[in-house]
Amino acid sequence: MPSSVPAAPQPAEPVSPVSVTEGAVEHSVDFIRPHLRAHAATHVALYAGVQINGAPHLGTGVLQTAAFLLAEAARDRLGVDAELRFGALDNAPCQTRLCPRTGTLYTRSYHHAAGPDRILELVKRFYSGLFDALSAMTGVPYTVETYTRQQRTPAFREEFLASLAQWDRLRFTLAPSSGHVPISFPCPRCGWLQKHGENTELLAFDGSRARFTAVCLDHGRHEAEVGPRGDAYVGLTTLHRNVVKERLAAREAALPVIVKGADWAAGCRLLDEAHLCFPGGRPPARFLTPVVLSASGAKLSKSLMRQGKAELSPDTPPWMLDATRWEGTTQEYASTLHRLVSLMLSAPEHFERGYTTAEVVRLLGRTGSGPRG
Ligand SMILES: [Zn+2]
Repeated sequence: MPSSVPAAPQPAEPVSPVSVTEGAVEHSVDFIRPHLRAHAATHVALYAGVQINGAPHLGTGVLQTAAFLLAEAARDRLGVDAELRFGALDNAPCQTRLCPRTGTLYTRSYHHAAGPDRILELVKRFYSGLFDALSAMTGVPYTVETYTRQQRTPAFREEFLASLAQWDRLRFTLAPSSGHVPISFPCPRCGWLQKHGENTELLAFDGSRARFTAVCLDHGRHEAEVGPRGDAYVGLTTLHRNVVKERLAAREAALPVIVKGADWAAGCRLLDEAHLCFPGGRPPARFLTPVVLSASGAKLSKSLMRQGKAELSPDTPPWMLDATRWEGTTQEYASTLHRLVSLMLSAPEHFERGYTTAEVVRLLGRTGSGPRG
């Protein structure tokens, strides 16, 4: 660990064009004020995702830090109790295989390939230190729950079944091009699931119970029954899973506020329309957070990095791509993110835009990397 004291960062501020919310929004947290008023809410829960498929990059850190700072601002500026609930996506694909007979794609999730103990380890390794530090700095409490645990609850299953009841409308909202929204069930023996659910069939559905068959590339056909209880693991595609999770969150006493990166804007439009497919359904309050961009304008992405297509400017410090390469302490990492996101939140026009890694380097000062010695 470097022992020298870091040089004081050069003061730098974002220079942002006037935003379309000019005159309407003074602080980005104010976006949820109409929801608070409509629900007479005194308690909000902000929901954000935790990716466990590899080390987090700066974009992930910005989103999570923004979630803490927005919760803090909701408490201090809007006068409500605020907490943060992270969802760990242990359903993300960990392994893939092609069926040699049919050519269909199979995946096995982190939960099925690595097991719950390893998931906890990954969450701890990548996030716990940062979250604990940000929680201490903001006074905002947080919890982490895995998708696996969430999908097991009767309430999740009820919301999944409710989505089947609206399927004819919902499927074209969630997949406007084809109306095909795959539902997949991992094989109970090995955990592999057919990614695009080509052979998943709904055999019976009576509103409170659904019976499916699915196919495993090693073990053939298997049945999955989804009722309020039961063991079947429900595998849903991204948008379908999110609308189910958001409806689940709406059942809680705390008013849910969904936090996502601004790259989700188009997806959130589909989600909002999906909520309107349910009787009495209404879209939740949302925050969209600034996206961190590579030199080409594409967002930082694990998959582009793996393919060597991330097109980063040469001055991008390695820790911006891989948080585990931060050379200082976790506390210093948390402080750096806190400083960066506080700048972004200092005016709505700074929050309603993206930042290249080069601009983040400029905003953070001399090295952009905190203590380097
Ligand atoms: Zn199997």
